[in-house]
Amino acid sequence: MASVTLNGLKKSFGNVPVIHGLDLTIADGAFVALVGPSGCGKSTLLRMIAGLEELTDGEILFGDRPVDHLSPRDRNIAMVFQSYALYPHMTVAQNMAFNLKIAGVPAAERDRRVADAARLLELTDLLNRRPAHLSGGQRQRVAMGRAVVRDPAVFLFDEPLSNLDAKLRVQMRTEIKGLHAKIKRTSIYVTHDQVEAMTLADTVVVLNKGRIEQAGAPMDLYRTPANLFVAGFIGSPS
Ligand code: ADP
Ligand code: MG
Repeated sequence: MASVTLNGLKKSFGNVPVIHGLDLTIADGAFVALVGPSGCGKSTLLRMIAGLEELTDGEILFGDRPVDHLSPRDRNIAMVFQSYALYPHMTVAQNMAFNLKIAGVPAAERDRRVADAARLLELTDLLNRRPAHLSGGQRQRVAMGRAVVRDPAVFLFDEPLSNLDAKLRVQMRTEIKGLHAKIKRTSIYVTHDQVEAMTLADTVVVLNKGRIEQAGAPMDLYRTPANLFVAGFIGSPS
């Protein structure tokens, strides 16, 4: 497990700055939501933490260890996206085990981890099905299962629910919260949906144009927004 610290993070694409010197500490085991309007830099920031995007300046630490020189694989993170492409020709169990197989985890250990993750996500009865025979919510749970089996120090979520209908989205929020309560792994959850952020996270970080407008507990942001942007964003209907 690990805390995540961002020190003076900057990112430019060409000469266009998109992240402007961002400082943030995320406690070990916390669930933090990064929320803000489309284009404010949420995915870029998450990709920098994942090691998928080079930093223009600053540093990222997991615990007290700088990770800037580490590849995505060596950072011990797992990412869950909205497009959770499962392999159609593989069963649920094979989909969940695939990355472990690539990483050279022995078969017995793979089976054990898949069984544990399936129990957590209530997928045990579905392990032999193929994705075509799953509902949208079940597929999303398999995508999460694929992340859970890797036993990462940090979970990164990039709008994982935005392809689901409204009812399922609310149900999956509860499942993600339940999963976090069970495994207490540091989770960074990107969304443009302020209601989702406020219901899921211990700490909500409001981003606007590559800068942090406010970071705090959901109730504090709601009761004492730091400025008009936060008040407008948190208060607007989703
Ligand atoms: P969000 O996830 O909050 O919607 P992004 O992080 O995807 O925002 O994008 C932030 C800004 O960076 C946007 O203006 C986007 O157009 C720009 N951007 C993102 N990725 C690239 C890229 N690979 N090349 C150039 N510009 C990019
Ligand atoms: Mg995005």
